[in-house]
Amino acid sequence: MLTEFIVTPRIAYFSMEIALASGIPTYAGGLGMLAGDTLRSAADLGLPMVAVSLVSRAGYFRQQIDSHGRQIEHSDPWDPSTRARPLQATVAVPVEGRLVWVGGWLYVLESHVGGRQPVLLLDTDLADNAPQDRRITHWLYGGDETYRLAQEVVLGIGGVRLLGALGFQIRHYHMNEGHSALLGVELLRRHAYPPEDLLPGDSRYDVPLVRELCSFTTHTPVEAGHDRFSYELVARVLREPGSDQDFVEAATLKRLAGGDDLNMTRLALNLSEYVNGVAERHAEVSRRMFPGYRVHAITNGVHPFTWVHASLRRLYDRHVPSWCHEPELLGRADALVPDADLWAAHLEAKAALLDAVRQLTGVALDPGLPLLGFARRMTAYKRPDLLFTDLERLRSIAHTHPFQVVLGGKAHPRDVEGKRLIERVHLHLRELRDSVVIAYLPNYDFELAKLLVAGSDVWLNTPLPPLEASGTSGMKAACNGVPQLSVLDGWWLEGCIEGVTGWAIGSAPIAGADAARPDTGTPGAAAPGAESNALYDKLEHTVLPLYPAAGRDPSGWIRVMKGAIAKNAAYFNSHRMMRRYATEAYLR
Ligand SMILES: *Cc1c(COP(=O)(O)O)cnc(C)c1O
Repeated sequence: MLTEFIVTPRIAYFSMEIALASGIPTYAGGLGMLAGDTLRSAADLGLPMVAVSLVSRAGYFRQQIDSHGRQIEHSDPWDPSTRARPLQATVAVPVEGRLVWVGGWLYVLESHVGGRQPVLLLDTDLADNAPQDRRITHWLYGGDETYRLAQEVVLGIGGVRLLGALGFQIRHYHMNEGHSALLGVELLRRHAYPPEDLLPGDSRYDVPLVRELCSFTTHTPVEAGHDRFSYELVARVLREPGSDQDFVEAATLKRLAGGDDLNMTRLALNLSEYVNGVAERHAEVSRRMFPGYRVHAITNGVHPFTWVHASLRRLYDRHVPSWCHEPELLGRADALVPDADLWAAHLEAKAALLDAVRQLTGVALDPGLPLLGFARRMTAYKRPDLLFTDLERLRSIAHTHPFQVVLGGKAHPRDVEGKRLIERVHLHLRELRDSVVIAYLPNYDFELAKLLVAGSDVWLNTPLPPLEASGTSGMKAACNGVPQLSVLDGWWLEGCIEGVTGWAIGSAPIAGADAARPDTGTPGAAAPGAESNALYDKLEHTVLPLYPAAGRDPSGWIRVMKGAIAKNAAYFNSHRMMRRYATEAYLR
């Protein structure tokens, strides 16, 4: 069953989460979406990869929201046997002095043009494992730090071993975020010198060789966001049965991963010749956070075919043939696509979203009024409440320029502030009931994301700089001709041409100002209210007056829609991203 995949040497892409398809809950947010789009583009482009992730049988969670706006978390189990085939090999990894067997599933990701990529979903739920070990791969981002470290042992070490046992030839390893950095440790063990060849003081390991084999993409612009484990915990978890030898020489590990505790980002940085930040700005921030490392900047992208609504696919097929394979061709869409057809295709996507909103929430949105969309993980730095800073101002804007809002997003079960934000947003939703129609879609996921990014009229994004490493949902919106209104952070610093591809909230942050103390994670704060006022001003004076409501001439608005497609969808796509990774990281 693997024959077609093991003849060619492949690039192994390791990610804790990956969004493969609707109904497979092996992702939590943007990181997993990016991993999925990476594989989808590789499949279209015929770039031989193999993805390695966890099976996450219990999923992330399914979100329900009660009448008080409180998030209720349900488990979201899936049965891998319905979508994937069991792999014929198992390998063992050490966890707390026990041997844990790691098997897995082969999911074949199929491209709409026929390409196929293997995805290995690692699974410890095997009869030979002790009950607590059978659960290691159950909950995505669940459990305590011992559980997390055990998952990372399975992902990094188990993943490398399983690839070998199955006969894959791996020419390069790519770590998507630091969770999989232990793969580098496993590679060090494979590339160790025999003790008799060593002179006193020599490293036992061929670190330069391992560095040649690895690339690393970092996604986290603050120290506090990086996985760290105490060496006491590492010694306890990463212990071979019946042995008191270190898994890797302790001195080497501390040199590579940090003296005080094991920092997975630092480990990945030190074991990768090619390091990438996910946008220009994020690469700069990462260089300041980790001085001395060369951090490249291949800006993220999204998979065009996946994120473009059916109505717009038909439009592009007709006017920009081959756009799917060469999304750069979308750069011509502004000249080639007739205005009226684009508007009609958008209204079709909007109608599909409005249908879903009515079915899921009972809220009836008006297809004739501008609709602001905001959906992403609900967590403090994304500031879902920025729009609701001054309700009086919002009411007064809505009085002159009526608009409506659709929101969605899950908070991590342990993110107390994120859950409070969901409650607060629901409170505002009720307070504004008589002036602005607002719907909150529960259980934001792959399917809802597709509807939201295509059917909204404006995609809103209000992160606290510099905490949005890239952001990708605005790119998905651009693919559908939906302009973004966003704070200048992450990819929007590259993507925003004011009034042409969308609009900025406020002016460009001063380089360096907001990241002066990256190690404390304290962003430079704008004056209180300044950003919400900038948002209100832009909405009131620029965005809403341009919207073609009730008989107004639509050409100005459609020009911005076309700007989003021609200037941003043509560039911020994962085909461009993967062509760059291939030539600059993998084939270096
Ligand atoms: C694209 C996507 C994200 C990431 O959105 P950001 O704009 O990066 O915050 C999160 N969740 C889902 C379901 C997505 O499709």
